[in-house]
Amino acid sequence: MVAKHLLFALLLSFIASNTHSQEAEKSILATFHSISSHDLLKDAAELTSAKYGGRLSGSPGYLQAAQWVAEELKKAGVKPGLSDGTYLQYFPNAYSEVLSPGSLTLLKGKQNQEKGYNFPEDYFPGSNSASGTVTGEVVYVGYGISAPELGYDDYSNLDLKGKILLMETGVPYGKNDSIQLKWEPYSYHRYKFQHAKELGAVGLLYVSKIANPNTSFLKDFIYAHVSEAVAGELFEGTGQKYTETKAEITKGLKPSSLLLNKRVRIEAKTKHFPDSRSCNVIGVIEGSDPSLKEEAIVMGAHLDAVGSPGTLFPGALDNASGSVDILATARALAASKVKPARTIIFIFFGGEECGLYGSKKYVEAPVWPKEKVVCMINLDMVGNGTGFFLANGKTHPSILKYFTDANEKYLHREMNASEVRVSFSRPRTDGAIFEKDGYKVLHLYTSGTVKPVYYHHPLDNTEALTPEIMEDAAKLLYLGILGLAADK
Ligand SMILES: [Zn+2]
Repeated sequence: MVAKHLLFALLLSFIASNTHSQEAEKSILATFHSISSHDLLKDAAELTSAKYGGRLSGSPGYLQAAQWVAEELKKAGVKPGLSDGTYLQYFPNAYSEVLSPGSLTLLKGKQNQEKGYNFPEDYFPGSNSASGTVTGEVVYVGYGISAPELGYDDYSNLDLKGKILLMETGVPYGKNDSIQLKWEPYSYHRYKFQHAKELGAVGLLYVSKIANPNTSFLKDFIYAHVSEAVAGELFEGTGQKYTETKAEITKGLKPSSLLLNKRVRIEAKTKHFPDSRSCNVIGVIEGSDPSLKEEAIVMGAHLDAVGSPGTLFPGALDNASGSVDILATARALAASKVKPARTIIFIFFGGEECGLYGSKKYVEAPVWPKEKVVCMINLDMVGNGTGFFLANGKTHPSILKYFTDANEKYLHREMNASEVRVSFSRPRTDGAIFEKDGYKVLHLYTSGTVKPVYYHHPLDNTEALTPEIMEDAAKLLYLGILGLAADK
């Protein structure tokens, strides 16, 4: 019996109505088996290669990577997503090129005895630092927030003129509740940078050793990211410990800023491109059912990464993995003899790392009416692990079931899902932007991490990927989407 072989409950009704059901089953499985980790890894190697320079949104390298994706979609027979017949949806995207790792030096004692720090062990250059050299006294300013309405000010009674700040990212309030909403405006790196500069600071050591282009380029404002170990060392001789001081601030929501009696020199070499633009890559497979094709399923992943601040940051797990999974799914659905009944839209976002520019652009200028979109599935970091996690899936069981069925019948991976959880913090993924705009969103992640995660780090290369889970993620999407696309 065909049903026994197929086992895929919701494809059943679809296939039962097909007079060539056995052929349909065979062709679905043939396409399913054509998805291979070898191809996914090859695509990941392409996107993470040096020629794209780490895919910093707005840079020539990113735009070339976007072009490559558009060509691959075209080759696969996926149609352009824009009404003007192109795949590229442009938006403004200033960016900075980091020309060298620069340097960070501690100047000790009256003799200014120098201790140089090392890239990438101790510090990363600031992705949007001004170019130049700055030397100054270091002041620890906690979270760098002045929020009078919250009774909180890291800067009260501090003279910051000519100082270099040592600052935490984020906000000191840790709970996800409505109070967090009041802290949200202060959680942006851009707010912190601008505020620090307005108060007279000339430089910044940001305690979070990751590359991050989601910051402001401010004239003459030079900064670098430092490890907690460096922060700890800058506290030496003050009588206070770095980790304890930070913990005190978050515990009591009481600022604990202090002069560290240390001088540092930060040297940065960058070039800023204020008028650049970037793009999303959008492809469409039109639905095969005359009425269902009016409705669409959207799949998205950010194609951009953090560029080459000091060296190549390949952005393999984050997020070549999601991009190549979408590409593999697009190829499979385009090659599939059993066509998706609803329309499928594939979006490769630009500008995610710079502040979710691409997803914001899309929700402002969607290529499909929002009310006709069944759901949006976002992929971010789906290439390291042994299982799947579908955030929000439990809130949308009628969507989730297509993926759990496909997994149970064909893939046998551990798979978990969660309910929609209202977040009071700033949005951190493209999916969150769609969610805010009213779309039903499922976020696909891989779980059961098996390799070290090098987040926004030069070692986030193809070695950091587990290609088998990437293959299975694309297979899961191919079957799940095909089923969901036919759901009546
Ligand atoms: Zn990401």
